[in-house]
Amino acid sequence: MKKINRKNFLKKTVLGAVALSTVATACGNEAAQTNAGGAPAINVGKKYRWKMVTTWPPNYPIIGEGLEEMAKWIEEMSSGRMKIKIYGGGELVPPLESFDAVSSGTAEMGHGGAYYWAGKAPAAQFFASVPFGMNAQQMNAWLLSGSGLELWRELYAKFNLVPFPCGNTGVQMGGWFNKEINSLADLKGLKMRIPGFGGKVLAKAGGSPVLAPGSELYTNLERGVIDATEWIGPFHDYKMGFQDIAKYYYAPGWHEAGTTLELFVNKPKFDTLPKDLQVIIETAALRYNTWMLSEIEAQNSLYLDKLKKENNIDIRYFPDEVLDQLRLYTDEILAEITASDPFAKKVYASYNNFRNRAKGWAAVTEKIFYNKLQK
Ligand code: CA
Repeated sequence: MKKINRKNFLKKTVLGAVALSTVATACGNEAAQTNAGGAPAINVGKKYRWKMVTTWPPNYPIIGEGLEEMAKWIEEMSSGRMKIKIYGGGELVPPLESFDAVSSGTAEMGHGGAYYWAGKAPAAQFFASVPFGMNAQQMNAWLLSGSGLELWRELYAKFNLVPFPCGNTGVQMGGWFNKEINSLADLKGLKMRIPGFGGKVLAKAGGSPVLAPGSELYTNLERGVIDATEWIGPFHDYKMGFQDIAKYYYAPGWHEAGTTLELFVNKPKFDTLPKDLQVIIETAALRYNTWMLSEIEAQNSLYLDKLKKENNIDIRYFPDEVLDQLRLYTDEILAEITASDPFAKKVYASYNNFRNRAKGWAAVTEKIFYNKLQK
């Protein structure tokens, strides 16, 4: 997202209105218009039928449903010129091949979480979530009003992709356990489904992180193949049924404080779209970004109540000493990642600088709000 030069903002808005009326004229006679300076042509007659592959099960609550909504917004905003067909994970390509499928142009768009691609680009995880990292509000600020998105675009350009922030889970829960976690020793030997960076931190604490797709988690936990699992938050966890097979629901989700989801678009295809369709895609992604966070906030509060009242779920909190040690392990892993990958070092410098500033501001506002005003 380009930074707004506030002095020129009004001027640009007026010019924008003029440009919009030009589009309206072009729409009237179905003509193609080429802008001076090599900008993409506005070809109002051309229809785009694109495919979006996703890392989620088909029509997955909130996340997948929201993508169907997003496809409608794009169709409506483009007056039917652009239609997007959404494929759930495995319908066109396996979930974790979405990145490669869009990179190669098999599909024009994809939706997932950037930390899935850490094996291809270690820096990618900073654009989704790192343990003890920024929350949703701070991630949005870093990406959209700081230099986050610029760095993300620089990284993904190497893979032929253009990324957009597109959804956020908010602070997640810490997971479902059948034994209490009272000290770090309780994590030793613990087989827990916890992906990515969080899994690496658990391994440092002596636990055994297990990677398993969502569809297997209930059975694995029920049969004791795993001792514990994290998923998302009360709404999605309730739908998984974990309340029937686990005793304790732990907070907070130290490993995912505000995971950003992503829309990624094949870059050559995006670059050759008419400018208005490019803006429509970006606008729809931003609408989804707000929509998902609102929806998940509304549903999580409802389902937390449900879990407490209907299922008598025991909410527990990780002790401070456990969280403090996990934070130290996180720092060790961050040092390893940034020492071995120059781009990750560059992204982390920007991320960390922004987080420290945000922390200072939150200390005199949000922190007091939660502790003293909204007790
Ligand atoms: Ca999670």
